[in-house]
This record gives sequence, C-alpha cells and structure tokens, in this order.
Amino acid sequence: MEEPILTIVVPCYNEEAVLDETTKRLRTVLLQACRDQLISFRSTILFVDDGSNDRTWEIIDSAAQENQEITGLKLSRNFGHQNALIAGMETARPYSDCVITIDADLQDDVNAIRKFLIKFRNGYDVVYGVRDKRDTDTMFKKNTALLFYKIMERLGVKMVPNHADYRLLSRRVLDEFVNYQEENIFLRGMIPLLGFKSTKVYYNRAERFAGESKYPLKKMLNFAIDGITSFSITPIRMVTYLGGTVAGIGFLIGLYAIIQHVLGHVVTGWTSMIISLWTIGGMQLIAIGVIGEYIGKIFKETKHRPRYIVEKRLLSNESFVTKAL
Ligand code: UDP
Ligand code: MG
Repeated sequence: MEEPILTIVVPCYNEEAVLDETTKRLRTVLLQACRDQLISFRSTILFVDDGSNDRTWEIIDSAAQENQEITGLKLSRNFGHQNALIAGMETARPYSDCVITIDADLQDDVNAIRKFLIKFRNGYDVVYGVRDKRDTDTMFKKNTALLFYKIMERLGVKMVPNHADYRLLSRRVLDEFVNYQEENIFLRGMIPLLGFKSTKVYYNRAERFAGESKYPLKKMLNFAIDGITSFSITPIRMVTYLGGTVAGIGFLIGLYAIIQHVLGHVVTGWTSMIISLWTIGGMQLIAIGVIGEYIGKIFKETKHRPRYIVEKRLLSNESFVTKAL
C-alpha cells in the first residue's frame, strides 16, 4: 500500500528569528517519518508567509530552493493567523492525504507529529494537540485562557480545552471544511463541528524559540470576542433577558412612584432617580454594543470577500511529484 502524503502547514508572520531552526526540526521529523514508512516520501512542509515585513519570505524561498520537501505560499498582506492557516490547508488539500498545522515558533513540540501520524494511520480523521502543562505560559495567559474556555463552554460552544491550532486533519475532513465559507473564522470552534472520528495527543508546550508573540493582549481579547460571537448567539439572548428584567423592575418602580405621588411625597427620590438613570443608560449601551457586534458580523459576512489573497506560490507538490518520477 502506498503511504499517505502529509503536508505540514506553518503560518509565519515576521518569524525570521526562528525559521531556520523550525525548518531544521520539521525536516528531521518529516524525513524520519518517511523512513519509518508512516508517510510518503512525497510529503512536504508548506510555509505560509502571512504578509511579513521582515526577511521571512526570503528565508522560505531559499529553504525551498535547497530542499525539495519545502514549499511556500506568500499572502499579499497580513490576513491574520486563522486565514493564513486556511490558505495553507486549502492549498495542500488537493495533493495531501492529511495536513498538520503547527505554529512557526516551536512552542508546539514537533515530536508529537509522529504520534499524530500513528493515530491517523489507526483511522482517526482529526487529531488535536493538547497542551499537557502550561508552565511556560505566564500566570496571566494561563488564567485568561482558562476563563475563556469556561465562558465558551457556558455559551454552548464545543471546544477542546488547551488545544490551539496544532492538529492533524485528514483529506476527508478538509473536503468538508472547505464548504464552511464564513468570513469570521475561529478554527478551534469550527473543527469540532465537522464531526468524524477524533482523538487527542498530549504534549508539553515550550517557550517561544525566539522572537516575540504576535498576539498581544489586545489581539487576544479581540480573538476571544470573535470566538464567542461567531459561535454563539447567547449574548444576544442575554440582552433580551436583561431587557425583560430591567423592564420588570421599571414597572415596580413605576408603581412605587405612583403610590408616592398619591401620598404626596413627590420631591423625595432623587437618589433612586439618579441611580436608575445611570444603570439603565449603561445597560442600554451594553445592549446596543452586543447587538452591534452581531450586526458587524452580518455586515462582514454579506460582502463575501476572499479570506486571503495569494501573491506567490513556490514549487507545488504536484510538480515535485512529477520531478521525483
Ligand atoms: N501568525 C500569523 N499571522 C498573524 C499572527 C501570527 O501567521 O497575524 C502566526 C505566527 O507566525 C505563529 C502563529 O501564528 O506561527 C502563532 O502566533 P504566536 O506564536 O505569536 O502566538 P502565541 O503563541 O503567542 O499565542
Ligand atoms: Mg507562539
């Protein structure tokens, strides 16, 4: 039987500091897996340059010239981590039996790839890489992440806790995935929706090999809000309940005010008035904001803009295959 073709998709945004080491380690793992007949010798590593403004593309370009198993894709500008992943997955789909996505910064243990492949060979279509311990992350990042998983769970979004975007997908899953044409992408929420037989592989998350995180606090917060609002309409439902509750309280206060009026105590109540003015005003603003989030999403979705634009594509696997023949 012919071994399956694997493509490792690596999104890169200003990763010049780590790329040489990443290439080295991924090649080692890939070649070993080939020798062990876990995967075909036609397997490749696909680097996706997400509009970097450092030397990232030059490094990918020269690595591709030196090594047959390395290919590259250059996006026309920075489209964001999730879009870069999709660009890689969609590019790899026609010529791959399975795809593994992994960050460029070597935080995800490359040795888990072997375990992913063994699971795949045993019939799993989705393999999630799950961080065992997060002791290399700061307390802050760990706790905010945990809170995020809790909130998502409460809102009814199925997600694998402590799993980021390190995973294996089979060709079958990718074929279904391309039918999800939404603009607001949150892969961690989307993949479990696809179904198929899935499993987890645990690994220890290391520190970034070099360079800085491309996810500062603001981006993290935006990512979390996007994740929630793309997958759950519970916040809007909560606004409805909130409105109902406030209206109920308002009705009671109205009764109270009428009684006070009848009894002739009209000047009292300044305090309650000021309090309700601000509370209700604040709640209304929050409510409008939440609804606005969803309208914003609808606005984006209706435009059907492309999720990424490819500027350049290096030697593809198809030509690699013919060259190898
Ligand atoms: N990344 C990307 N586009 C972006 C931001 C990040 O392709 O706009 C890539 C980045 O190069 C890395 C991965 O996404 O390979 C994860 O980013 P990072 O390691 O900075 O995130 P963190 O691990 O700090 O959450
Ligand atoms: Mg990282």
